[in-house]
Amino acid sequence: MAFTPEQETAISAKLTELVGDAQCPMCKHPNFHIAPEITFMPLRGGLSAVSMPCLVLLCARCGTAQFVSVFGVGLQDVLGIKPMSPEITQPKTEGK
Ligand SMILES: [Zn+2]
Repeated sequence: MAFTPEQETAISAKLTELVGDAQCPMCKHPNFHIAPEITFMPLRGGLSAVSMPCLVLLCARCGTAQFVSVFGVGLQDVLGIKPMSPEITQPKTEGK
């Protein structure tokens, strides 16, 4: 489902707060825009598949796509995403 105008505003405000004016990391083009829907990146396959909800940033010039974790930037409540697995949503506290 596409983002609502309120969600688009919240996403844009959060990314601007975190990184300022986004630009493509490959070609430095300033039209590095947010795709209109969440993408779920598969982390494990099989019957108990786990995925990570991500925003996708796309470059209008060179096609570079970059993924930003919804949980990583704290937008899960705005986007109506519930935590699925502590190992995905919480940083590890024990070093290995
Ligand atoms: Zn680019």
